[in-house]
Amino acid sequence: VTPTGPPPARRTFFARRAFVGDPPRLAADVVLEVEGDRIAALAEGTSPPPGAARLEGVVLPGFVDAHSHAFQRALRGRVESSAGDFWSWREAMYALADALDPDTFLELASLAYAEMAVAGYTCVGEFHYLHHAPGGIPYEDANLLGLHALEAARQAGLRITLLDACYLSGGADGRAPEGAQRRFADRDGEAWARRVEDLLASVRASGSPTAAVGVAAHSVRAVPPPALATVAALGAHEDLVVHAHLAEQRGEVDECLAAHATTPAALLDAAGLLTPRVTVVHATHLSAYDVHLVGRSRAHVCACSTTEADLADGVAPLLELVEAGAGLCTGSDSHVRTDPFAEARGVELHQRLATGRRGLHRPVELLSAATRSGARALGWDAGVLEPGRLADLVAVRTDAPHLAGAGDDARPEDLLALLLFAGGPADVRDVIVGGEPIVRDGVHRLFGEPSALAARLDAAVSHALGLAGARRGDGTGHP
Ligand SMILES: [Zn+2]
Repeated sequence: VTPTGPPPARRTFFARRAFVGDPPRLAADVVLEVEGDRIAALAEGTSPPPGAARLEGVVLPGFVDAHSHAFQRALRGRVESSAGDFWSWREAMYALADALDPDTFLELASLAYAEMAVAGYTCVGEFHYLHHAPGGIPYEDANLLGLHALEAARQAGLRITLLDACYLSGGADGRAPEGAQRRFADRDGEAWARRVEDLLASVRASGSPTAAVGVAAHSVRAVPPPALATVAALGAHEDLVVHAHLAEQRGEVDECLAAHATTPAALLDAAGLLTPRVTVVHATHLSAYDVHLVGRSRAHVCACSTTEADLADGVAPLLELVEAGAGLCTGSDSHVRTDPFAEARGVELHQRLATGRRGLHRPVELLSAATRSGARALGWDAGVLEPGRLADLVAVRTDAPHLAGAGDDARPEDLLALLLFAGGPADVRDVIVGGEPIVRDGVHRLFGEPSALAARLDAAVSHALGLAGARRGDGTGHP
């Protein structure tokens, strides 16, 4: 058999310091050989070979955002000055969701993803429920908006798992979706599954090495028990990752108890939705038995620290969940911030506030949560710098005043703590996905300098809010 096509591209990178292996450990003078989109070889303590691209600062595995709703980027700053709670925030989010058209959705998502790329994310799990046109009418291509999310990730250079979310009811009592919720809803579980099978077929046919499909049950509020089982079955049948929001708010737990006389976690478990392929998002309000169920299943738990604080959700029992056997990953969720460093440290800082104790999640565990575990939760063999893995990595410069103390004499754990607790998106200089540099020295390969990206994102946010305001009819441009 004669091989066809060109041989896979080879690239060589050199870093003076890098966190390599699993669990991550600090290595010096690291040469990374990349063949195609994977790390072919990794050597330590060597000098840079001729032609190697130098990565300044400290190299880490690329950050993974395991839970994103890209369109919610438009709400940043617009919902901070008002009072209220999760449910009043949700009304603002619904007004935006109800107003977006496909072009605006694509523009907003591609720019939100580009912002993520320059912040150090290499991979996103897009929890996608905005499937239909306003009123719940299917687009001519029923997966138009999902395909737009995939296109947005392609433009930004991010690896993506599109988590197509089943959403059928307006509450745990099974009432019909209302208002903007109708855009999220398929007719029934079977209709959702058929649409997802079509999406899966077209993504598989595209052969994209950076795009995958997963499935999701939005929550026990939106998915009745028989359809929860449909989601679990499709995930198992097609070997897909499965995600679900879990007990973000007390109100959801109360609704579930009233409708089903059991907790959301127990309802997921009964439907076959607690398994190692599953990621539950938030897991805020759990009973001790819920913690046992989730831990026993070896599911992942996705903490979204900045959003959970923003929406006054509460603090999840993350340490108990990890001790019970759950994996831990992180997500940006509502995009109230785009900052993988803040998501990682937020896990530990929230636990400190809730428990009065420090050092519950060590820096190396926070890094693994924000990289390796997120990749695993999204079905990718990435998040660890070692031969055979996907070559997704970031270089973080350490020459800014707020990172002083990160010199060569810093102990590895202190260096990592300094980066995660004091570092931020502006420190990220180079971002590489599947061996391809998508950000070089802070400049995105498609969207250019940070100021150019900011101007386009600003325009996209204004446009989206304008649509939402026009739809509300008050002309303020605010949803
Ligand atoms: Zn969410």
